[in-house]
Amino acid sequence: MPRPEPLTIPPRGNAPFHVAIIGAGFGGIGAAIQLRRAGFHDFTILEAASDIGGTWRDNTYPGAACDVQSHLYSFSFAPWPHWDHMFARQEQILAYLRWCAGTHGLDPHLRLDCPVREARFDEKAQHWRLRVGNGDELVAHAVISATGGLSQPQWPDIPGQKEFRGEQFHTARWNHDVELDGQRVAVIGTGASAIQVVPAIADRVRSLDLFQRTPPWVLPKPDRTIGPRERTLLENLPALQWLQRQRIYWSLEPRVLGFVIHPRIMGGLQALAKLHLRRSIQDSELRTRVTPDYTIGCKRILMSNDYYDALQRPHVTVHAGGASGLTPGGVLDGNGHEQPADVVIHATGFKAADAPIPYTLTGLDGASLNDRWAREGAAAFKGTTVHGFPNFFLIVGPNTGLGHSSMVHIIESQITYVLDALRTIARTGANWIDVRQEAQDQWNADLQKRLAGTVWASGCNAWYQSSHGRNTTLWPGFTWQFRQRTRRFDANAYLTDRDVA
Ligand code: NAP
Repeated sequence: MPRPEPLTIPPRGNAPFHVAIIGAGFGGIGAAIQLRRAGFHDFTILEAASDIGGTWRDNTYPGAACDVQSHLYSFSFAPWPHWDHMFARQEQILAYLRWCAGTHGLDPHLRLDCPVREARFDEKAQHWRLRVGNGDELVAHAVISATGGLSQPQWPDIPGQKEFRGEQFHTARWNHDVELDGQRVAVIGTGASAIQVVPAIADRVRSLDLFQRTPPWVLPKPDRTIGPRERTLLENLPALQWLQRQRIYWSLEPRVLGFVIHPRIMGGLQALAKLHLRRSIQDSELRTRVTPDYTIGCKRILMSNDYYDALQRPHVTVHAGGASGLTPGGVLDGNGHEQPADVVIHATGFKAADAPIPYTLTGLDGASLNDRWAREGAAAFKGTTVHGFPNFFLIVGPNTGLGHSSMVHIIESQITYVLDALRTIARTGANWIDVRQEAQDQWNADLQKRLAGTVWASGCNAWYQSSHGRNTTLWPGFTWQFRQRTRRFDANAYLTDRDVA
């Protein structure tokens, strides 16, 4: 694997230039590996939880697996020949991330159980001050914030949750102490998490009531096991692994055309999903109940080979119309009828579109990014830098999400950009860089123009839209276009401390 160009940053005053990485999921681990591979060792990874892994540590629900093939949903600079399924299970992805951290020597840089509460740019000292959970303060000259787009669970906005007397939990905080066998279980939501949970638990429970508000489009999942012989071959022939990655990448990439050029192009895919539905569900009434009425792709396209089978079990009931509330003994459907339940599972997704930053972030002139984004909606330059927040870099920032390929590809592109920004700081001797407001505005105006014609704007209610009515989550293009735009740090779009001195 080609190494990133070397990175050596001269000390600032008496102190070495220090980088704080917030979060130890794919984004934080990837950034740390690339810093080390570039020969830069002065960084700390601050992780709020007691283990690394991000979303792949938190989502331990039964059936949790990736819906992107693992040879692509992994770092190109840390290929792994051991995937035992085309679409890896949660435990194996977590094992991969631990392997990455171990083999790339990240352990000495890791501070676990160390939630960042506040990051404040000290204009006089020209560095960031980070306050962590135990009250300690850490100084950093640059901050890479990789806290993840899907890290904060969204509970349903329905009354009665405090009154419910049984057990309830969110899929991203699965309570493994709760026994599901023989219980009356209610699942709220029919998104990517629910369609994995439902088939995984259906056989264990006494009854399963699924509260669906909007049916998803579901395609067959082209999954298969990767046997020991194939794995040995991949281990011994790294070029074969590389080819596998390229094959998957280029097979997924054209799918973006249907999302961004015209919703009509989605016709073929929608026909395939309809065929999957017709072949899987015989009962026409149930089929009608789970047939979406919006263009495929407007909400995330799901993949499963066993979801529809599970819905047809005699003890599984789909309640269209969603859940309207909880009572002490169960869940109210859309008509207000109570369905008794012992356990309620909230498969209701994450706070993604408003891109919350899980700590207080204060930049130049005391500006608060939390307030700004709450007021105006999330916006950044290339999903990575934000005007007024010098030497602050987001991984998986606004409008970097994908509907068609691997987020790890986007993460790698952003890391390349951040490393080049740090190289610019090293080369020029500047203390900080800050993206110009005009550059950021232009970037976002272009994005919103391109998003207007996409399938995501075709009229469904998806979490891609922020409460401000803008799509602040998705990248409306090929992933190689994003890579092209982040290949080099574009210094002309930035001010430095010297420009404002
Ligand atoms: P989600 O896609 O946001 O789905 C949340 C579900 O909860 C939706 O079906 C929503 O209905 C429903 N809901 C909310 N309130 C409800 C109510 N009162 N009654 C009934 N339903 C209600 O969340 P998710 O399934 O956790 O997935 C989130 C994202 O995580 C995915 O899009 C994907 O990016 C990622 N993910 C990926 C994988 C993977 O395989 N890689 C697996 C899981 C998750 P509406 O549609 O009507 O809003």
